[in-house]
Amino acid sequence: MPTNNPEIILTADRTLMSNYHRNEFLGFGTCAPSNFIPDVLYSYLFFPPVGTKKGLPSEAPYGLRKIEAQLLKEGFNVLTVSPQHLKNYLGNAKIIGIHTMDPFGFGPASTTLASVFQKEPFLARHFSGLIASPLIREAKKNGAKIIVGGPGAWQFRYRTQLLDKKIIDCVVEGEAENVIGKLFKSALNGEALPSHFDITAKEAPKIEEIPDIAQPSINGLVELGRGCCRGCEFCNVTVRPLRWYPLDKIVREIAVNVDIGKQQVICLHSEDVMLYGSPNAVPNDEKLLNLHEIVMSKVKTISWSHCSLAAVASKPKLVKQLSEIILQKQAWWGAEIGLETGSATLAKKIMPAKALPFKAEEWPEVARQGFGIMHDSKLVPAATLIVGLPEETEDDIIKTVELVDDVRDCRSLIVPLFFVPLGRLKNKDWFREAQVNKLHEELMFKCAEHSLRWVDSLLDMSFADKGYRIPLKQAYKVFAGLARRQIRQAESIELK
Ligand code: SF4
Repeated sequence: MPTNNPEIILTADRTLMSNYHRNEFLGFGTCAPSNFIPDVLYSYLFFPPVGTKKGLPSEAPYGLRKIEAQLLKEGFNVLTVSPQHLKNYLGNAKIIGIHTMDPFGFGPASTTLASVFQKEPFLARHFSGLIASPLIREAKKNGAKIIVGGPGAWQFRYRTQLLDKKIIDCVVEGEAENVIGKLFKSALNGEALPSHFDITAKEAPKIEEIPDIAQPSINGLVELGRGCCRGCEFCNVTVRPLRWYPLDKIVREIAVNVDIGKQQVICLHSEDVMLYGSPNAVPNDEKLLNLHEIVMSKVKTISWSHCSLAAVASKPKLVKQLSEIILQKQAWWGAEIGLETGSATLAKKIMPAKALPFKAEEWPEVARQGFGIMHDSKLVPAATLIVGLPEETEDDIIKTVELVDDVRDCRSLIVPLFFVPLGRLKNKDWFREAQVNKLHEELMFKCAEHSLRWVDSLLDMSFADKGYRIPLKQAYKVFAGLARRQIRQAESIELK
């Protein structure tokens, strides 16, 4: 067990140490910059800080909890601390491990919103604020090493100043369970650290090497597995091998969230929850139904982190059966999905396996079917599509506009994101605001109109059984109304 003055402190900035009022969709709000409502109100609405006990967060990002669990397993003295309470814990710190998702706002959602508002996104502001805080500087002066990791680690290849100036000592990129102990031991022994520590797919841990989390995760997130079998060209996950957790491991992590964290909510996480337990792109009915029956017997509500339109479209009956299990306890559930493009030609070029078990050229129809099935099942997609993919033509954009039109009556959010060079396309150029043409503008406005059209009914569904939170619901409705007005004003100017 850790002592009160541990040598290793783990933390993350405020935008990550939040449960987003128990709605992961609101987490998208951290990608926006300051806007038309005061920062204090915006921060409360979209990323309120999690509760703490003596400065220790009641829940923390899942990735950070995995690192904590691995270090505890190897006998290190480690604590995860809320960023607002670091001052009580840094006295003896020799390593400060910082988890990050999007440290400089280079992720697709933040890049897009930053270019619209021409300001730095909240998540980048809070990351730089944490790194530059007097407490971290003081700890650094006293010899502590700063080690950063998490899904946003790739961004330090594009912005190197913090490493060049030795403000950050090491950035770890990849699945770290098998190497983090050795790295932290070197740091504790005062050995020199590499500025970048890259973990290859070959070094990725096997399922049996991944420890269970020891403390609750944000919104009860538990992993179902890692990797993805679809291999889209623009995605970082492509390089990771596909592995699924056995059911008993998932149940143990749920128990950590329910028994220690007293959580009523669980978020099932994988790149495609519909493919749980499957070695390919065809859902395994038995495993998926069994998983949901067990999970729903243990918690009040669930959400999915991600699923694919193709898996949904391939098994409408299975989705209906899942919805019958899930909707016994909740009005709807959500998942992020990648819509990416409405163009069959582009789909074939950059994501040939995304439509599997259907053919790549059937992608637009697969997407329409998937949206329809999700609407009927009250599975609400927060869909993202990519603006400015390499080789995108005007015809591709028109096809995407048409697809967004076709799914207008399906309950969903659709978020357009600028292309960011990742995965096998990492050497391509970034898509910049200056390249936005009239068709892109039409597409982006159409997505905004679509999402704002559905926001009110989603809010009504979300707050249906939470009468005590009506003021919060009204605040979101006022925010959505203001956003709608701003977008319509911009639209009337831009599309003249
Ligand atoms: S974009 Fe989604 S479906 Fe495609 S490789 Fe990445 S995780 Fe898999």
